[in-house]
Amino acid sequence: MEFPLQSGPVCVRCGDTLESPAPPSLCRACRLAPPPYERAVAYGIYDGRMREAIHALKYDGLQPVAQRLGGMLAEAIVQLAREAPAEMLVVPVPLHRGKRAQRGFNQARLLAAEALRRLAGSHPHWHLTLAARTLLRQRATESQFGLSPHQRRLNVRGAFTVSDPDAVAGRAILLIDDILTTGATARAAARALRRAGAASVWVATLARARRGAAQQQGMAAWQPEHVPERKTDAAPASMHDRFMDSSHGQSSFQEGEKDVAG
Ligand SMILES: [Zn+2]
Repeated sequence: MEFPLQSGPVCVRCGDTLESPAPPSLCRACRLAPPPYERAVAYGIYDGRMREAIHALKYDGLQPVAQRLGGMLAEAIVQLAREAPAEMLVVPVPLHRGKRAQRGFNQARLLAAEALRRLAGSHPHWHLTLAARTLLRQRATESQFGLSPHQRRLNVRGAFTVSDPDAVAGRAILLIDDILTTGATARAAARALRRAGAASVWVATLARARRGAAQQQGMAAWQPEHVPERKTDAAPASMHDRFMDSSHGQSSFQEGEKDVAG
């Protein structure tokens, strides 16, 4: 089974699938309320094998999966190469402290670190600096599962704050997350960064929800947040085999990278 990709024309701002290939090149949502970010890109669709891999990453914490998915995220980021500035601060969408402690790691940060490692090799002219403590989730948002798009917007409104506005003032920001569902989280996070003075915000995610899926409520099948948190020390061998990306060295889940404060 392949990782499902998006096909057909997409909105030039949010990347959502467009109904028809004819202009306008903006979706209805972006025409009505332009997003606070410049452009959002994704590697694929949150479905099938991609969904399995993201679950394996989030709930089993499999490092080989992180490496494989990090490579895909790097490919998504490359879609921005022509438009986005060559120098950007890379900000993973944070988890709330409680959730971060429960899971042991932030999957968005892990993916960002992996993608940056790849891009340092493939795009050496690009100066992307990981700044994982710049954006904070100041309150524990309810699970987005089962919420309508409107409820999702309310749920994440004001959820993000910038720890050090001086660090983002005038900077271009590359915001990273694993999944883009309705885009409510990306908008809320980008808005917080812009309010703190960021010059521009660009968004890259691994996967976006299939068009229409986000508009339907109660679809347990595609929404990951309902899966209970669990941590396992030993990953099942079958998972390793399925997602293993050749023979990359195992690196640690520890928060090892240095954050940039300014
Ligand atoms: Zn759009």
